[in-house]
Amino acid sequence: MDSLARCLPWYFSILEGREKPKFHSLKEFMVDFDPSDSFDQLWGQHEFYMDGFKNGEGGSGKLGLNLLDLKIALANRMLDSCKLCERRCAVNRNTGQRGKCNVLEARISSEFLHYGEESELVPSYTIFFSGCTFQCVFCQNHDISQYASSGEHFAPKVIAELIDRKEARNVNWVGGDPTSNLPFILEVLAHTDTPMPQVWNSNMYLTEESMAILDGVIDVYLTDFKYGNSKCGQRLSKAANYWEIITRNHQLARQQAEIIIRHLVMPNHVDCCSKPILDWISENLENVRVNIMAQYRPMYQASEYPEINQPLRTLEFLEAKEHALSLGLDLVE
Ligand code: SF4
Repeated sequence: MDSLARCLPWYFSILEGREKPKFHSLKEFMVDFDPSDSFDQLWGQHEFYMDGFKNGEGGSGKLGLNLLDLKIALANRMLDSCKLCERRCAVNRNTGQRGKCNVLEARISSEFLHYGEESELVPSYTIFFSGCTFQCVFCQNHDISQYASSGEHFAPKVIAELIDRKEARNVNWVGGDPTSNLPFILEVLAHTDTPMPQVWNSNMYLTEESMAILDGVIDVYLTDFKYGNSKCGQRLSKAANYWEIITRNHQLARQQAEIIIRHLVMPNHVDCCSKPILDWISENLENVRVNIMAQYRPMYQASEYPEINQPLRTLEFLEAKEHALSLGLDLVE
């Protein structure tokens, strides 16, 4: 069996019309809940219904509400004290407070059919949000990721109509990072009919609560695994506890869906980052595609960090790639 069939059977079964994307099944799973219930009550109901959903039971609600509606209610309630990502700012975004990502309403900087993603994904209808949960000092999209007020806000229904008109293989939610816009994305899907696989293209710095909400929504996680330790994550992306959070979320993602992992090799970070990441993938995740990327360029504030203020040397890239090959990983060519 080739790598694509082994790593992405669910994704291809949707493309071939043998399965429907998970969010369609969520919309068919009827549930009963009262949107005015407490946050804890809503979580309890979500846990209860998700057990049934994952066990293949049919929903039995009689109020005309479905499991995606429950996820939307929960996600919007999470904005009262935002903990969508592990920065856990606890600001009330519903009353206009901004946290570290600076995102309030969802703003889209661009959307288009992307032909530059992994070949199995193209054409990919890619929706770029402004703002990010990370502050990477070398960010190539810093004009978008670090300026949450750039771009434009659209009603969820408008984006759903754009999705329904696209001839794409999937919807690719990205930024910056999509995490700050999780409630908005769910609302778009509530209006979306087209049975396209949903791709979560992210730094994976989500909380466990956000991961639980994405369970049953996302078909493929397209992850950006940057650092092989928390010290580099703190220094270069201002992200605390990077390693613990990102490895935890990759394991959760694998339980929920299929995964394509991207790793951008950075100058002078092969031993501290590339090799530990590849070793960890080899030891902990089965049947995931791994894309080892060579396109690092020193940008944004990289000049303040001498070891990355230079292009990647070809030998460094080859060293990372050969390490991956020696581990027998499924590499994206
Ligand atoms: S999504 Fe933004 S406001 Fe919410 S916890 Fe993360 S950084 Fe803070």
